[in-house]
Amino acid sequence: MKIMSINAGSSSLKFSLFEMNTKEVLVSGLFERIGIEGSMYTIKYQEFKIKEEAELKDHADAVRILLEKLIELKIIDSLEEIDGIGHRIVHGGSEYTESVMVTNKVADDILKLSDLAPLHNPAHYLGIKAFQEVLPKTPMVVVFDTAFHQTMEKENYLYALPYEWYEKYAVRKYGFHGTSHRYIAKKISEELGRDDLKIISCHLGNGGSVTAIKDGKCVNTSMGFTPLAGIMMGTRAGDVDCSVIPYVMEKEGKSAGEILSDFNKKSGFLGISQFSSDSRDIEDGCKEGKENCLLAQEMFTRSVVKYIAQYYVELGGADVICFTAGIGENSVDARRDIVERLGVLGIKLDLEANNVRGKLSKISAKESSSLVYVVPTNEELMIALDTLDIVNR
Ligand code: ADP
Repeated sequence: MKIMSINAGSSSLKFSLFEMNTKEVLVSGLFERIGIEGSMYTIKYQEFKIKEEAELKDHADAVRILLEKLIELKIIDSLEEIDGIGHRIVHGGSEYTESVMVTNKVADDILKLSDLAPLHNPAHYLGIKAFQEVLPKTPMVVVFDTAFHQTMEKENYLYALPYEWYEKYAVRKYGFHGTSHRYIAKKISEELGRDDLKIISCHLGNGGSVTAIKDGKCVNTSMGFTPLAGIMMGTRAGDVDCSVIPYVMEKEGKSAGEILSDFNKKSGFLGISQFSSDSRDIEDGCKEGKENCLLAQEMFTRSVVKYIAQYYVELGGADVICFTAGIGENSVDARRDIVERLGVLGIKLDLEANNVRGKLSKISAKESSSLVYVVPTNEELMIALDTLDIVNR
């Protein structure tokens, strides 16, 4: 069976087509600058890569070209070979606790939730509509970034703010990267042959979050009402006392929206290093002894360690700590710096085993009190697996 996984952004559409028997990616790619001048697409299959300009007025144009290309490149013989389409959706609010089949109500709900994810949900809705137009008979499923975190208890998802804000405006912690954390939990449970694990999953990419998982369910997570909260990230600040907002608004004559945009786009690694949001640049800077890079790296390490320590206590220990996403999978130094601080809990790395990139590997020392693993994430595959599962039901 073949399943397509889709991630529609406001001016982009990413796709991967999986052969589900082998979990192999048959073709993947990206349509960019949809509705903007200079639109183009990239398609990768086998050892080939196609990059072309094309007029993409809207998402429907992108979908149409994508499907034509799949036939033209003989990746499929007919559109009927696509058994299902899974869409990544950033926000499912409190209502959506798992992936579901798309109905008119589900699509409308996604649009209604735009209030909570104004940059993402409207784009996801456009993606759904574009596929419905071109492939009206193909079953479609939506997979929410927030869904996995819906098992958090109220004590963990509420903010200590006026309760009526929660009741009237749904102000609460939602958490994000749920599809990745769920994939990590599933993968490590398979690897260790156990479902009853206490897992601390560290998704450290340009955006990052740490999640506490018990028996396959989310107990707590570091992101909040929006993906701004939690650990320090590439350009996002992570946790900050929000009194900074009105204070700097007055000093700089900026609006709340502008300050929030600075929290999201000019902070984190970029804010502290003053030159890059990319952890590789920061690591290079550290090797050259640049003070701002050393400071940024140390602040990042401490912010991750703080959440791991909190969740270790909340879970009553941890069977396994997993590192994933760009930094988690690739940065030998970041993992070493983080795990070094966990020595007080008896957690220890095998420094040689830690010298690994992008591969499922055990990196803890024999005597470590918790296992430590690198587990490459695969959100697209998780979306395809959910889609297959729901289509088969
Ligand atoms: P996102 O999906 O949130 O955009 P990624 O998961 O792709 O982010 O992670 C991007 C981050 O991973 C960047 O900070 C990048 O520097 C880091 N990264 C990627 N490859 C490496 C590497 N080989 N060594 C260290 N960091 C890396």
